[in-house]
Amino acid sequence: MRRAALVATTLVLAVSCSAPPKTATSVLQDAQKALGDVKTIQFSGTGMNAFVGQALTAGEPWPVRELSSFSETINYDQKSAKVELTFAQPTFGGQQQNTEVNGDKAWNVGPNGPAPQIATAEQRQLMIWLTPHGFVKAGLAASDASLSGSESAPVVSFTTMGRYKLVGTFDAQNLLTKIETKRPDPVLGDADVVATFSDYKDTGGVKFPSKTSISEGGFPSWELNTTKVTPNAAADLPVPDAVASATVPPMQVTSAKIADGVWHVAGGSHHSVVVEFKDYVAVLEAPLTEERSLAVIAEAKKLVPNKPIKYLFTTHHHFDHTGGLRTYAAQGATIVTHQSNVAYLEKTLTAPSTMVPDSQAKNPQKPVFQAVSDKWVLTDGQQTIEVYPTDGDTHTKEYTLLYLPKSKILVEADAFSPGPPNAPPPATPAPNAVKLYDEVQRLKLNVATIAPIHGRGPVPFAELAKAIGRKG
Ligand SMILES: [Zn+2]
Repeated sequence: MRRAALVATTLVLAVSCSAPPKTATSVLQDAQKALGDVKTIQFSGTGMNAFVGQALTAGEPWPVRELSSFSETINYDQKSAKVELTFAQPTFGGQQQNTEVNGDKAWNVGPNGPAPQIATAEQRQLMIWLTPHGFVKAGLAASDASLSGSESAPVVSFTTMGRYKLVGTFDAQNLLTKIETKRPDPVLGDADVVATFSDYKDTGGVKFPSKTSISEGGFPSWELNTTKVTPNAAADLPVPDAVASATVPPMQVTSAKIADGVWHVAGGSHHSVVVEFKDYVAVLEAPLTEERSLAVIAEAKKLVPNKPIKYLFTTHHHFDHTGGLRTYAAQGATIVTHQSNVAYLEKTLTAPSTMVPDSQAKNPQKPVFQAVSDKWVLTDGQQTIEVYPTDGDTHTKEYTLLYLPKSKILVEADAFSPGPPNAPPPATPAPNAVKLYDEVQRLKLNVATIAPIHGRGPVPFAELAKAIGRKG
C-alpha cells in the first residue's frame, strides 16, 4: 500500500517534470507543429454564404445562399486573399463573385476588371486570421497573447489588426476548434463572430478542417465543406494599379426640393427624404452608416434651420437601410417602424459599440419607437405623412409604404429602383415592383411621384406602371 502510493507520487512528479507549464506561445507553437506550417494555402469545396443583415423578418436567421463552389487562396505573408464563389441560384450582386484583399486594399474582379472595394478591406483581412493557420500566425506575431482554459482545451487570446480580440480554443491534439471575436457593425454595434472547425484532414503533412462554420450576429453566415486543400500553392495577389491609388470615396450629399417642405437627399447608393413640419423635421430612411446619417442630418439642418429632427421613418429593417438608426436614436428622434421590427431594434439600438464608438455609444439615449401595425398618420395640419404597414414581398416580410398625401409623393425602397430614363422595361416584370403597384391600388393611394431610396428619382408614378407593363 505504501509502496503503491510512493510509485504513484513518483509518476506524477515525472510527468509534471517532463512537461513544462504551457504558455500562450507554447500552445501556438504546438498548434503550428500539429497543423504543419505553410506560407500559403488554397482550399475549395461547396457550402453556404448567408446574406447577413437581410433576414426576411427582423431577428430571424440570415437568408441562406447555397454555394455550388467556392475556392479560397490565402498568402499569409502578403496578407492577401482571394475568394471565388459560385452561388447555386441567381443572386443579388451576381451569381459569381471574385473578391480579393491585400493589406488595406480590397477589390472585386468582374467582367470589367478590378473594382476597388476599399471599405471592405478590414473585414476581408479579418477572414484571413479566422483560419487555423492564420490564427496561429497572428497569435505568434501578437505582443499580448495570453493563455486560459484547461490543460485539454487551452484558450489563447490576443489582439490583431489593432482592435480585434481573437480568442481561440484548442483540443487535446493541439488543433484549433473555435475562434471567437467581434467586429464593428453599424446596426449591431460590436457584432459576435464565431468560427468553428472540425474534421481535420491531412494533405501532405498539413492539416486543415473539412468543416468550417462561421456565425455573425448570432446566425450562420458561412459553411464550408472543404474537399481539396493545396498547401503552399502559388499565390501572389498583387494590388492592381487601378486599386492601389483608390481611396474610400468621400461622402456626398445632394438635395433637391421635390415639393413644398419636401427634399430628396441623394448623393450615394441610398437616398433619404427630409420633410418639414411646423415645429420639427422628419427624415425618411437612415441607410448605411453613422457617417452617412450625420451627413444627411447636417443637410437637413441646412435645408430646415432651427427645427429638431423629431421622427425617423424606416421603410424596412434590412441593415443597409437601418445602419443610421443608432445615430437618430442618439439625437432623441422617435423611430417610426413596422411593429415586427421593434423587439429586434430595441436590442440593436442599445447594444454596446466599443470597437467603433458611435454617437449612441458615446451619449446613449433610450430609443423611442412608434410601432406601426395599422395605418398611422403624422400630421400638424399643414404637413402629413401616412404610414401603411404591409406584409412585405419576396425580400422582406414587412415593409411600410410612406406616403405624403399633400404632394402625392410615395417613398419606397428596393421594390422599384428606377434605372436610366427610357430604358426598355424588363421582359418579365419584377415581382416586387408588381407587388408595390398592387399595394398602391389596394390602399387607393393617389400617387403622382415616387421618391425612391435607390436609383434615379424622383420619377412619375407612370414609370412604375410602365416598368411592369401596366397602364399608369
Ligand atoms: Zn432590402
